[in-house]
Amino acid sequence: MPLAPQRADVPVTIDGSKCIDGCTLCVDMCPLDSLAIDPASGKAFMHVDECWYCGPCAARCPTGAVTVNMPYLLR
Ligand code: SF4
Ligand code: SF4
Repeated sequence: MPLAPQRADVPVTIDGSKCIDGCTLCVDMCPLDSLAIDPASGKAFMHVDECWYCGPCAARCPTGAVTVNMPYLLR
């Protein structure tokens, strides 16, 4: 079954095909608790649409599944 396309307009997107079951590193790293593990899929996702674009979630993911979609105005 194909995965539903991920919304591109959220600050952080997670590639579920790369996210490792049982890992919670990005969730643990986020100072805003914006990320969570979906109990149904076991994959991380952005459950609160709030982000400082600080980056540790992406930096610590062992598989590179996390993408921080930095707004152009902040670059
Ligand atoms: S750090 Fe990476 S592998 Fe671990 S829960 Fe987050 S997205 Fe999944
Ligand atoms: S960039 Fe920072 S605030 Fe945004 S989800 Fe990652 S750790 Fe949380």
